[in-house]
Amino acid sequence: MFASCVPVRAPAPPLAAGAAVRWCEQVPRTANRALERVKVASSWFDVYRVEEGVFALIEASQFQEAISYLIVGTKRALMFDTGIGLIPIRPVVEQLTKLPIEVLNSHTHYDHVGGNAEFDRILALGTPYTRANQRGFPHAELAGEVAPESFCRGAPAGADTAAFQTRAWSPSRIIADGDTVDLGGRVLEILHVPGHTPDALALLDRAKGLLWTGDSYYDATIWLYVPETDLDDYERSMSRMAALVPALKRLLPAHNTASADPVHLVLGKDAIRQVRAGAFHGVEQTNNRIVFWFPDFAILTSKPLLEGKRGDQVRGGSGLTAWP
Ligand SMILES: [Zn+2]
Repeated sequence: MFASCVPVRAPAPPLAAGAAVRWCEQVPRTANRALERVKVASSWFDVYRVEEGVFALIEASQFQEAISYLIVGTKRALMFDTGIGLIPIRPVVEQLTKLPIEVLNSHTHYDHVGGNAEFDRILALGTPYTRANQRGFPHAELAGEVAPESFCRGAPAGADTAAFQTRAWSPSRIIADGDTVDLGGRVLEILHVPGHTPDALALLDRAKGLLWTGDSYYDATIWLYVPETDLDDYERSMSRMAALVPALKRLLPAHNTASADPVHLVLGKDAIRQVRAGAFHGVEQTNNRIVFWFPDFAILTSKPLLEGKRGDQVRGGSGLTAWP
């Protein structure tokens, strides 16, 4: 069964452990249905206006339900992630803005950098992990992501699933924690929040109370099991973001729903601490993975990480690597 062989991102709360994962029946998800749908010429990306000048481009028909964001100022626009890369994203973005576009990735797992090669202005951290991932990910690593059962309505027309890979890209500017991106009328602060990956970022619009959380937090099964995940870093980063919650109006996560309650960040922060302290019983999965269920989300981690082992932080990783 699909749920037992692939650690689906999709399960939405409240899903009991072991419940059948019928994610296709859950899309479009309730929180997304509450947003204003924007009509675009695309049979793949579902576009929503989350806030004035903030668009979510959701790939709801593939089980990752990856969400890329277009944030528009008066002078330029920023893409926060570029999707899984199966269908070009730029033609959709160009229906939404004519402004010059810069790209920034929430992290460099495959499902967030897939469309990077379509753009020439890319901001990135200078970590060794990020550099390794700039080479792109080969088909062998991603084949399972485009297997028939990975789609709700079958593979999209025009997609070559047999050759699917992500293309190499290179940054035009190296950024660091605390840097800002001024779009004109909107200033975004870049927060380096390592943990999920060494190069995980969050994006803060302090004036509007918006925090883009990437894969550090979303209302579904949070993947924290690959060798490049560092749970010490993750706990620290969650604490840092949770401290912002009183000033936040909305979280804009990178999977499933384009809007989440900021208070969930605090719950997530507490959850990971308690999971690591052994306070909960997890459900064991294949490949040393173990899942812990909470009312609003789940944490999918791995035994080596819970035992304090550290994986390779330099080699790079698509986000799909199992522990040996
Ligand atoms: Zn992701």
